[in-house]
Amino acid sequence: MRRVAVFCGSKVGARACYAEAARRLGTALAARRWGLVYGAGHIGLMGILADAVLQAGGEVIGVIPKALVDRELAHTGLTQIHVVRSMHERKAVMADLSDAFIALPGGYGTADELFEILTWAQLGFHAKPIGLLDVEDFFAPLRDWLDRAVAEGFLSLRHRRLLREANDPELLLEEFARFHAEPESPRWLADTER
Ligand code: AMP
Repeated sequence: MRRVAVFCGSKVGARACYAEAARRLGTALAARRWGLVYGAGHIGLMGILADAVLQAGGEVIGVIPKALVDRELAHTGLTQIHVVRSMHERKAVMADLSDAFIALPGGYGTADELFEILTWAQLGFHAKPIGLLDVEDFFAPLRDWLDRAVAEGFLSLRHRRLLREANDPELLLEEFARFHAEPESPRWLADTER
């Protein structure tokens, strides 16, 4: 494991527990010498996370569309920054640079990035681990919705399990360290019962 992409809010959230989780994740990544790949913003949980990794001496690679740099939303102290043309290119570059993916609490942007990477895993385009860092049950409604999608026959149990969860950053990183990709089933499209 060399680098982990983290998707997270461009806002700090209403309660201090979210910033605290971002800080702890940043410190835990740096302690393992795993680099952070993220959306390069200096605002919200994104900025807090990047600053925590940098303060602990870790590597931070930011990937940001030019339009957001022009709006002065980019962090200026990163180890490396990739300026790309579009949000689509940003997600592809972040995915290529990373060996695993984590979502912290956030809004539309975070959900978009998380679900795209899950969809690519479901289709067998990559076999990298994906985890939710759940903070004080923020993701409980998302979990319920996914379980409902399984119960109603829209999502196989096997693909439901592509999304790992932990409420502690160190536990999630430990799970990633032990991760071995499951060989992709040739029956993935019809695979509803496993
Ligand atoms: P959201 O969850 O809607 O706050 O969006 C956060 C996610 O979308 C981050 O992981 C970023 O990659 C991207 N994003 C959204 N807004 C910004 C912004 N103002 N600056 C940089 N990245 C952003």
